[in-house]
Amino acid sequence: MPGAGSRVRTEFAVIGAGICGLAAAWALRKRGHEVLVLDQGEAGHSLGGSHGSCRIFRLGYEKPAYVTLAARARDSWTELEESCGERLLAPTPQLTFGPQVAEVRAAMAAAGTPAELITPAAAAERFPGVKVSGQVMLETGSAVISADRSLTALGRLAGQPALRVGAEQGKVTRLAIRGTGVRVSTGAGEIDAERVIVCAGPWTARLVADVGISVPGWTSLEQVAYLARANSHQPSAVTPIMVHYGGEFPYGLPVPGSDHYKIGIHFGGPPVDPDQQDHAADPGLAGRIELAARQFLPAFDPRPVKVERCIYDNSPDTDFIIDRVGPVVLGCGTSGHGFKFGPLIGEWLAFLAANGRGTGGGRAADAAPPPWFALSRF
Ligand SMILES: Cc1cc2nc3c(=O)[nH]c(=O)nc-3n(C[C@H](O)[C@H](O)[C@H](O)COP(=O)(O)OP(=O)(O)OC[C@H]3O[C@@H](n4cnc5c(N)ncnc54)[C@H](O)[C@@H]3O)c2cc1C
Repeated sequence: MPGAGSRVRTEFAVIGAGICGLAAAWALRKRGHEVLVLDQGEAGHSLGGSHGSCRIFRLGYEKPAYVTLAARARDSWTELEESCGERLLAPTPQLTFGPQVAEVRAAMAAAGTPAELITPAAAAERFPGVKVSGQVMLETGSAVISADRSLTALGRLAGQPALRVGAEQGKVTRLAIRGTGVRVSTGAGEIDAERVIVCAGPWTARLVADVGISVPGWTSLEQVAYLARANSHQPSAVTPIMVHYGGEFPYGLPVPGSDHYKIGIHFGGPPVDPDQQDHAADPGLAGRIELAARQFLPAFDPRPVKVERCIYDNSPDTDFIIDRVGPVVLGCGTSGHGFKFGPLIGEWLAFLAANGRGTGGGRAADAAPPPWFALSRF
């Protein structure tokens, strides 16, 4: 490792080894580029937004454009699975219910991926572990993503030797424009990069302010609970993902490789300074999650066996921020729904960073990100 006074050169520096940064690094490596990835913590550390066992992959969104992008993201996941030789997504049916279910169903139909409505009685018969009411949509294109294994696989494909982590080696303290590139300062010296890709979650705004870029947003500290099966319930063949879409927004998913079920409330947590995170369980949030568990999960004990905190990096409109300003590429504002798009976001960031050069050889079309993710919309 270089000493404090040293300076290295690289084609691309990626700041942040969460799902977006690692996916961008992999996409650049696929194109034969030289990439250095920096993170202030160990990969998958608990203060970032990508840690934990699992995430939901779903096509169901209330906007048709997101349904279309999610279908593209599914292809990017397949390519990642083929490249790493591991199954990262476990196809799992999803029950969507709640006030926006009709909107989600209409968006899916508009995007050409229709989903079936079933009665609550039919849902209960098919999936006795979950109890839902009202209009219920059965989505079959959904899956549980093994989040921790995905980060490990991407880190491997992105090239471990090019990964520098920790307060000394990996924490970026300053960015400065130097000629046509960017000088990146760390405790272990400076890095001159032709382009820098900033995927630093809610820390992005502070970093890029150094080079005159203003990124709006805020951070929330979310909470999830892991539930064990209630003694009275035998494991059923399939426990589905559940999403109560709209209003108070509880969601849940079976944890891969375990008999536990993970439950949380989308946008349930309070605003937080990402540098002042207190990961003690929030009793108010715990109560709301327990209430949802009692209401929707008859097969599980509502008292959690484990609680986790995790941050959301929120843009003002909850759409992502994927853009390039001079030599600085931005991938942030994932607003609590970015994991499922990770490998596709990586493709977009690599495209922006490399000026659209190269094809990557992958299945996902090497194309620019949608214009509605541009920073200039704010
Ligand atoms: C509880 C919870 C449940 C979720 N569920 C889902 C879901 O079911 N489906 C879904 O699609 N999405 C879900 N998400 C959202 C998804 O996990 C995030 O959108 C995504 O992981 C964000 O990834 P990221 O790479 O943008 O940011 P992060 O993972 O936060 O990575 C940013 C990295 O930048 C590093 N960094 C910051 N500053 C510096 C610096 N100065 N120098 C070096 N490194 C720095 C940080 O250490 C961090 O590791 C969920 C999120 C949470 C918290």
